[in-house]
Amino acid sequence: MDTVFEGSMGPQAMRRAGSQIEALKERLGRTPTACVITFGCQMNARDSEKLEGVLAEAGFAITDSEDADFLLYNTCTVRENADNRLFGRLGARGSELKHSPWKKLAVCGCMMQEQINVEKIKKSYPYVDLIFGTHNLYTFPALLDAVYAPENEGEMIISILPEADRIMEELPARRKYPFKSGVNIMFGCDNYCTYCIVPYVRGRERSRKKADILAEVRTLAADGVREVMLLGQNVNSYGIKVPAGEEADYGTFPELLAAVAETPGIGRVRFMTSHPKDLSDELIEVIRTHDNISRHLHLPLQSGSDEILRRMNRRYTKEQYLSLCDRIRSSVPDIALTTDIIVGFPGETSADVDETIDVVRRVRFQNAFTFIYSRRNGTPAASYPDQPEPERVKRDFDRLLAVVQQTAREECGKSRGLTGTVMVEGVNENDPSLLTGRLSDNLLVHFPGTPDLIGKFTDVELTEAKGFYFLGKQVGTPW
Ligand code: SF4
Repeated sequence: MDTVFEGSMGPQAMRRAGSQIEALKERLGRTPTACVITFGCQMNARDSEKLEGVLAEAGFAITDSEDADFLLYNTCTVRENADNRLFGRLGARGSELKHSPWKKLAVCGCMMQEQINVEKIKKSYPYVDLIFGTHNLYTFPALLDAVYAPENEGEMIISILPEADRIMEELPARRKYPFKSGVNIMFGCDNYCTYCIVPYVRGRERSRKKADILAEVRTLAADGVREVMLLGQNVNSYGIKVPAGEEADYGTFPELLAAVAETPGIGRVRFMTSHPKDLSDELIEVIRTHDNISRHLHLPLQSGSDEILRRMNRRYTKEQYLSLCDRIRSSVPDIALTTDIIVGFPGETSADVDETIDVVRRVRFQNAFTFIYSRRNGTPAASYPDQPEPERVKRDFDRLLAVVQQTAREECGKSRGLTGTVMVEGVNENDPSLLTGRLSDNLLVHFPGTPDLIGKFTDVELTEAKGFYFLGKQVGTPW
């Protein structure tokens, strides 16, 4: 059944969903369980927290097990292998659903904004109960109600909006960590980099109002959250395209960032992602003057070749990128820069990769996420004729990776012997006598300690560099 649910989440939809889950509970003789599996980025993960919030409020017990009574895959479409991972998992669920007719299987997220994927599920996985996209997450309570309504038994409910019609402000969220949280400040992207599917699946850029964001941050702080990460595909263009006459309701990203950092109770602020073309000197100044803004800037380079940057529609040159990094470093010397790099973009030669390697050597990133170009149907670059030969791409990728790893190791090692402030995130997975936390520059540190420190800040002396993480010892009193 293809349908578009216009109804908002509203208390009525939530109540109806709750009655359906109550009926299921009676039928099963126990509290039904729900599981949301996240495939993508921080935005995707934040959406999952909201979806889990709705499921919990409707009456489900949330679990990590895919054996749950309600299983929801929140998909990502940035890379082709993510698509294949989803289809593999859907296939594996089929026979189980036959033997457990009360169980429901749902798919949402970026992949579902592409019609080709919806068609494939309709044809090959007819036992999927619900498909919805990124633009109508706020209708999830109504969708949940529809999935469990007896008259829809055996139907596949599909609800995809082609465009975002509003920003959801009221969905409950179930945070993964009590002490840190993502906060969406904007949705979508207007940049149209030629390799990227995001503008087509996440829609045009929309900013949330500053007052709504700050109210959310204050609520989180009152609930014990010490660290927030402001999320957007391009946070630097926050507030730029807003309805005429409403500019004051938004402001600029540096103004917003300063206001979040000054919120009582917030000990650390991160943000992700910054487009180099929009990063202003005003932002650098706000970072410099606020100690609790993370000393970590993720600044996707993608390529060091001007010609490839032009073909990618990145709208900066190698020299502009280098000069931006110089300005950031001279203002905030202790900041760590990380980046994303794509190798094998259509038309790229080994000489172009040499230019990228030159940037890596000069900027000395603390870390770089390197990817081999993944052709995404529906993007301009997918139809570019000169897709490079895979063997050469692999050789260029390995050359780049060797330089990235060497410079990153050297950069990380520079902090050995220093003392840094760590937000303690949990017990080390491999050694329960150790705690794991992150420094302001985002590096991981493991150190002896007890779980009562989780969610607190503490100073840690960095005694041993282990490539991309540190071993350390706690000093001073946690707060
Ligand atoms: S800035 Fe470019 S790469 Fe990033 S989401 Fe927007 S279009 Fe994609």
